[in-house]
Amino acid sequence: MIVGIDLGTTNSLIGVYDAGFVTLIADSGGARLTPSVVHYPKEGGPLVGRPAANLRVLEPERTLFSVKRFMGRRGGEEASVMPYRVVGEAGAPVRLVAGDMVLSPEQVAAEILRKLKADAEQALGTAVEKAVITVPAYFNDAQRSATKKAGELAGFEVVRILNEPTAAALAYGLERRGERTRVAVYDLGGGTFDISILELTGGVFQVLSTNGNTSLGGDDVDSALVAFLEEKRGIRIGDPATRARVLEAVVDAKHRLSEAEEVLLSLPFLGGGASKEVHLSRADLERVALPLLERTRAHCLRAMADAQLENGPLQELLLVGGSTRMPLVRRLVAEWFGLEPNCSRNPDEAVAEGAALQAAILGGTLREVVLLDVTPLSLGIETFGGLMNVILPRNSTIPCKAGEMFTNALAGQRSMLLRVLQGEREIANDNWELGRFELPFEPLPKGQARVGVQFEIDANGILQVLARDVATGEQRVVELASAVEVSDEAVEKMLEDALENAMDDMNARAFTEARLKAEEMLPSLEKALLLAGGLLQEFERKHIETCAAEVRRLLDGGAAPPLKRAVAALDEATQTLAAHLMEQALQQAASARPQA
Ligand code: AMP
Repeated sequence: MIVGIDLGTTNSLIGVYDAGFVTLIADSGGARLTPSVVHYPKEGGPLVGRPAANLRVLEPERTLFSVKRFMGRRGGEEASVMPYRVVGEAGAPVRLVAGDMVLSPEQVAAEILRKLKADAEQALGTAVEKAVITVPAYFNDAQRSATKKAGELAGFEVVRILNEPTAAALAYGLERRGERTRVAVYDLGGGTFDISILELTGGVFQVLSTNGNTSLGGDDVDSALVAFLEEKRGIRIGDPATRARVLEAVVDAKHRLSEAEEVLLSLPFLGGGASKEVHLSRADLERVALPLLERTRAHCLRAMADAQLENGPLQELLLVGGSTRMPLVRRLVAEWFGLEPNCSRNPDEAVAEGAALQAAILGGTLREVVLLDVTPLSLGIETFGGLMNVILPRNSTIPCKAGEMFTNALAGQRSMLLRVLQGEREIANDNWELGRFELPFEPLPKGQARVGVQFEIDANGILQVLARDVATGEQRVVELASAVEVSDEAVEKMLEDALENAMDDMNARAFTEARLKAEEMLPSLEKALLLAGGLLQEFERKHIETCAAEVRRLLDGGAAPPLKRAVAALDEATQTLAAHLMEQALQQAASARPQA
């Protein structure tokens, strides 16, 4: 039996498919949603889920939540605003501190998974060893590997890491659609927002694009509502314990306002004994929430643009995540996408349901559906001049494999350094280095070594890079599966940076390409001019020299267009020279041939 697990930022769920339908498993307290919170007490083992969540306010420095944000991350990437300590030298794996314990995010996530496993075993009356675990579609290699590791630490064999939107589409039964269907999955949870565009053809899902914001969700609506109560309703909050109580009441009110038009908030013992009752209307909530929700719109537009939907509109809009229960969310997305959202599944449970279905497919109890996912960012290696050479473009369907031939930049070079990069920037150093390794080869003249590089991503999204010296068959393979090996930053930041710097980046690439061409042409031109001797007219030689001088002058600049023009002019100017040299070579060959 294989279980399906939604390991969420706020809540986690576990489900299993049996006899035709999915059961989401409740714990001994009857709850199906397990808060993704782990409390490490001074003595004894950790508490997981609801009991841990209850201690968030009382013992914040021992109670870890939202650890999903830190999976596969390195220090220095994102300032933490957590009430617990997050440590890690820049570039080193992040560690979370609970009391005197220092833990990896995987270890903490493993506690949550261990609890889900125990709940499932208790409910099913049998050992559960295999699991499908979901991750956001934008998770990179490091984050996927860390999730897999967490599963293994909890005692699972992780048979598949599945993208959350793909799981949601499965839960909605879209794989049974015969015709071509394009689906948007709008996922707004407690702390994160994701939008994914999928396409389904003949039972095959493909993720066309993904976008989102890892720090935008229902929690932000909650904080904004608390601020609203302070500013507009005169609620005075002194200490953290009061703030926590007000927050709890606000969250409860927000949930009730998804059904009711107006609710009454009771805030007992506020500010030294006085209790207070406050009316809150859905209109109030919507006024507060609107600017936050509006921020998801740009991500939707970008995902739509990336998915290149010009050949047909969307047929389905699925809502996932607890915050999509808000009627305002439903109205806004209907307007933006021009499509009524499908809300027929429980938005908190759709991902776990889909994971359980995928588990059943892999276990053979449900008929095969092929699931294809995509790479959220481009993968490649650094090449001549420090440029990014993309081997697997962003949004490539996973599993996938692609390769390219490279050569030596220097004569007599004995090895090639391969820097494996991830990102959308043109300059290698602006992307993230996932790893590096060296391939030795026989020294050869420049441009004569042949090194094949192949990138392969397996169904779990784990990357394997192979480099082989074609001449000797010598090869190196690295698996970029360990979170510790891999550096990373927020994907959306990369996309934003790439967009913001697009003009500069394009210029930098064009300049480097023109510079490489110039650096190749100039030395051989000098040789050719010597060889040409009297073959050139004086004005021709002068013209070539002027063009070459212009190229040399522009090499010190940084602007691509003039350098490109100058290189092209030099190329043009040397045409006659090349023709003369060719003619001379032919004549010499002819005169060397024995006469008949
Ligand atoms: P998730 O991360 O999918 O578990 O979603 C959790 C978020 O959904 C939290 O911010 C909740 O406050 C929010 N949420 C859950 N139920 C409702 C509801 N009925 N109305 C509005 N928001 C909700």
